[in-house]
Amino acid sequence: MRVGVLGGTFNPIHLGHLRVAEEAREAAGLDKVIFMPTFLTPHKADEVNSPAKVRSEMIRMAIAGNKAFELSDMEIKRGGVSYTIDTVRELIKTGGKDTEVDMIVGADAFSDISSWCDFETLFTLASFIVVGRPGFPAGKPNDALPVELAGRFWYDNATGAYMNYHGNSLVYVNGTLLDISSSDIRKRVKTGCSIRYLVPDEVERYIRSAHLYR
Ligand code: ATP
Ligand code: MG
Repeated sequence: MRVGVLGGTFNPIHLGHLRVAEEAREAAGLDKVIFMPTFLTPHKADEVNSPAKVRSEMIRMAIAGNKAFELSDMEIKRGGVSYTIDTVRELIKTGGKDTEVDMIVGADAFSDISSWCDFETLFTLASFIVVGRPGFPAGKPNDALPVELAGRFWYDNATGAYMNYHGNSLVYVNGTLLDISSSDIRKRVKTGCSIRYLVPDEVERYIRSAHLYR
C-alpha cells in the first residue's frame, strides 16, 4: 500500500489541490492520498485562518465520492504549529516500520523546503512528490535543496525518480499547472466575485452560506 500525503492550510480547498492529488496519485502509482489540513501552518501562524474544523469540513465535501482520497485530522488533533516532521514521525509510528510516506508538495512550497523544521531529517524518513505550479515548474533536487543534500540524490533511469541511500525518492511531476490558489479565492469572495469552477460546487455553497472570507 503506497500512501501519499497532501498537507496544507486548505483555506479553502480548491480544484488545484484536487488535481494535484490526482496527478500525484497517477504518476506515482499511489493507492491512496490523505489530505492533511494543518492546525497552525508554519510561516502562516500569525495569519487569521478559518478554524481547522471549517477547513476540514470543506475538504470532506470536496473529496466525498473519491475512494482513493481520505481526510486526516492528525495535525488538528495534535494542535500547535503543524510541522511536517512531526506528522511523518507520527505516520510511521502508527503505520509501522515499513510504512512508506510520500509527501506531495507543490513546487512553490517545495522551493522553501530548507526553511522547514528539521528538513534534513525529513529526507531520511519520507519520499517527496513535487508537483509543478504556474511560475514554479517542477525541476530537479538542485533547484531547492542545499548543494550537499541535493548531492545525496542520484537519478534512477528505470523509475524516473531521484533516490537517496535511505531508500527515499524525490519525484517531479509536471501536470496541468492550474493557476488556482486559496488566497486568490479569498480575495474574489471579499470583492464579491464568482468562485464558481474554482472550487467544487458544494464548497462554493458552503463558503456562501457560512459567510466565509467576507
Ligand atoms: P494560499 O494561497 O493560501 O497559500 P494555496 O492555494 O497555496 O493557498 P495551500 O493550502 O497553501 O494552498 O497548499 C497546500 C499544498 O498544495 C502546497 O504544497 C501547495 O504548493 C499545493 N498547491 C496548492 N494549489 C496548487 C496548485 N494550483 N498547483 C500546484 N500545487 C498547489
Ligand atoms: Mg500556499
